[in-house]
Amino acid sequence: MNMVRASEHRRFTARGREFAFLIPSSMILELDDEVRSILERLSTGPKNVEEVATSPSAVEALRELASVGAVTRDGAPDVALSQVSGLLSPEAPPPLSTIVLNVTNSCNLSCRYCYEYGEDRLESAAAPQIMNEETARQSVDTLIAESGHNKKLQITFFGGETLLNFKVIRPTVEYARRRAAEEGKFVDFSLTTNATLLTRDVSQWLADNHIGVTVSIDGPKEVQDSMRVFERGMGSYDVVAPRIKELLSIYKTRPIGARVTLTSKTIDVPGIFAHLTEEMGFYEVGFAPVTSSSGLDYAIDGDGFDTLLAQFRALAGRYVDAAAQGSYLGFSNLSDILGEIHKGVAKAYPCGAGLGLLGVAPGGEIGLCHRFAGSGDHDFGDVRTGVDAAKRVEHLAKGHIDHRTDCRTCWVRSLCSGGCYHEAQVRYGDRFRPNLHYCDWIREWTGLALDAYGEILVRNPAFLERFDERKVA
Ligand code: SF4
Ligand code: SF4
Repeated sequence: MNMVRASEHRRFTARGREFAFLIPSSMILELDDEVRSILERLSTGPKNVEEVATSPSAVEALRELASVGAVTRDGAPDVALSQVSGLLSPEAPPPLSTIVLNVTNSCNLSCRYCYEYGEDRLESAAAPQIMNEETARQSVDTLIAESGHNKKLQITFFGGETLLNFKVIRPTVEYARRRAAEEGKFVDFSLTTNATLLTRDVSQWLADNHIGVTVSIDGPKEVQDSMRVFERGMGSYDVVAPRIKELLSIYKTRPIGARVTLTSKTIDVPGIFAHLTEEMGFYEVGFAPVTSSSGLDYAIDGDGFDTLLAQFRALAGRYVDAAAQGSYLGFSNLSDILGEIHKGVAKAYPCGAGLGLLGVAPGGEIGLCHRFAGSGDHDFGDVRTGVDAAKRVEHLAKGHIDHRTDCRTCWVRSLCSGGCYHEAQVRYGDRFRPNLHYCDWIREWTGLALDAYGEILVRNPAFLERFDERKVA
């Protein structure tokens, strides 16, 4: 007997139209009457094909459902993530595309929540604080040597405060451009800064060199000054605000984004967003809630997640209304997930760490990403001696979503894939543990994003074309 069953999916509606999110593959399917009726018949369990394909149009619909993996032969597995990614048991690590250089671990701010100073820190205190030019050059060489067929490479400068080591960043950009060109490759650069050291010359150099810039800033003066302070406790808003305005007035050829660290004491997403976009002129704002350490009074936990979700929902509503009119509201958390949904990204790993990305500590030790680099236990080699390929293979084998038992039945697993390794390391002492402390939040947020996607699909599908080309991290 030829029995078929429906693959795992989650249904949602937008303005009377019905959609299904196909869980293993992250694809979205619009349900017409025929497709809906087939899925409904299969909702009570596997059926004989003849019971489902009762007319020529039903046969056609069943064929289409099978072609996208929404219906499968009973007994056959759903399209597994491992088939999508092909890395369940890698024999060799994939080529690198990105390297994050921690050009310094020092910072001229002492933000109260910063992982560089707080409990989240994995970095060894004895490690070198500033990367020298030779180590930066060796890092570039490492990226190029490990990049295989990748033609487009990315170098991200990170810190501490990156501009404390501007004297190394400048020649490194020149060197990387030259080396990449020699190899027939292209390298793009990005940098995160707290803006305290931006001068007219630095801003001009960033613009002239088309460096992607993200500014860490938490919002209006009272918010910024409550957490982002200098060593003696003085707030930083009055120092950074004019410098950011100057940067934004000089550098207009590439969108500049703000990254907000959101704590339980500063949850005011609408107010922060309005200040950073309308008053300061940032193109996009991304919010990073502090969730990794429990018991800290500024960490978001419990009711804080509900508040955060309500505020994200309100901003998402504004985003959708703007999208319906063809304009873009720079809420980058939503843009990022919409891009993943649009492209049908089915992740086997939560992020690029260890996959196409590695981090380098100031002393040259290679880590899983910038947050692990230099932490001893997690080293993946050294730029002087090369990347430890065996460790990357081991990491990818262990980190695959198919090996995360807690995630196997979770409907957002193809988008979340277990969550940040660094958060898990800090919270549970094991980077492969799923971040179960915020799963409810992730599921609610993903549901919200699906609703937003459906709304845009109905009201102005052309808006979604912007994600066809957009690279989603
Ligand atoms: S939300 Fe939780 S259970 Fe679901 S994939 Fe993410 S970490 Fe795993
Ligand atoms: S998500 Fe976490 S593990 Fe991944 S790159 Fe970011 S900090 Fe590192």
